[in-house]
Amino acid sequence: MKKFDPASNIQDLLQFGEFGDVNPSITDSATYTFMEAKTMVDTFQGEQEGCFLYSRHWNPSNKYLADALAAMEGTQSAWVTASGMGAITTAILQLCDTGDHIVSSITTYGGTFAFLSNYLKKFNIDVSFVDITRTDQVEKAIRKNTKLIYTESVTNPLLQVSDLPALSGIAQKHNVKLLVDNTFTPMIISPAQFGADIVLYSLTKFVNGKNDCVAGAVCAGKSFIDSLADVNTGSAMLLGPILDPLRSSGIHKNLHTLHIRMQQHSRNAMYLADKFAGTGLRVIYPGLPDHPQHSLMKELMHPGFGFGGMIAIDLETSEKASLLMESMQKAGVGYLAVSLGYFKTLFSNSGKSTSSEVPDDVQKEMGLSEGLIRFSVGLDHNIERTWEIIHDCIKKLKII
Ligand code: PLP
Repeated sequence: MKKFDPASNIQDLLQFGEFGDVNPSITDSATYTFMEAKTMVDTFQGEQEGCFLYSRHWNPSNKYLADALAAMEGTQSAWVTASGMGAITTAILQLCDTGDHIVSSITTYGGTFAFLSNYLKKFNIDVSFVDITRTDQVEKAIRKNTKLIYTESVTNPLLQVSDLPALSGIAQKHNVKLLVDNTFTPMIISPAQFGADIVLYSLTKFVNGKNDCVAGAVCAGKSFIDSLADVNTGSAMLLGPILDPLRSSGIHKNLHTLHIRMQQHSRNAMYLADKFAGTGLRVIYPGLPDHPQHSLMKELMHPGFGFGGMIAIDLETSEKASLLMESMQKAGVGYLAVSLGYFKTLFSNSGKSTSSEVPDDVQKEMGLSEGLIRFSVGLDHNIERTWEIIHDCIKKLKII
């Protein structure tokens, strides 16, 4: 069997513009003309493929990017959105009705956690949060009205690895959908190849890699993506979280270097994780043999892209975490900033920032220490030099 190869799948697409431009032309239009009135009617009814109606529905620039993402994930289709949250909320709202139930990893990005635990109350949609590494807990939590299981391939910020084949088995057995946010591990893990029904992205992060815009994507089967665009019932069409074509074209170009960037992010993260571990600090990185899901990660990942660019270290108190982050920023290691997947290293104290939506008691329950610093390791050319600077900061602050 031919091996699934996300980078070559993108490379093999020939997507040139209408004037032969090697980068597809950018659509600078909100609406599109039809030569015949009937074609417009058919397009409204979803019966006319390949025609563009209105940019909130579909537009050529977004279609180029969506096709490339679908190729990367090996899904029939994809949809791009104005943010990662736009992708997550659109997909969930399309699947769930009032009174439904969701089983979700307790560890997810804070915005996702807040949407699931607070916002969905408006629709009387109940969510059971479970330890996603305990697949027995996942199965036990399923009810008659469960519509979906939600997780992240590698969770934010604890970097737990989801057992996608096992979760997909449970989802199929109970006839529910498996939704997987793959923001931390594009190229490295292809969730749909392990049975995920819907793969979600914040493109803001590694996929774009430039931190110059927010964007998201839903990759799934054709019928689900078509349902998002339905003019009567589609959550994407009706809520309108549409990506701007100019941004879309920028992300599309950056997608073509993703495979190289992921290798360097992973190489640098592995180096720093090893060095941090050598100091005796508690380090979380799926590439370290003592990570609880290290072997699972090796089974899930495509060879050649490493274990990802995200690491976490635990300084036990938020005061110590703040001191080290401020000191690293002053010394030029990178920025004290949220977000990830940038060419420079970014670090933040998760409990007080990107997971601050998660109440303190829940943070404790999931094992999120208040001193946890999450690093998105950059594309540094000389990571040995970066480590020397970090090590100096640690020594000066007498953290170890
Ligand atoms: N998913 C994950 C794993 C994230 O880390 C984030 C943001 O940090 C999101 C989704 C939300 O993405 P966006 O900020 O593009 O809406």
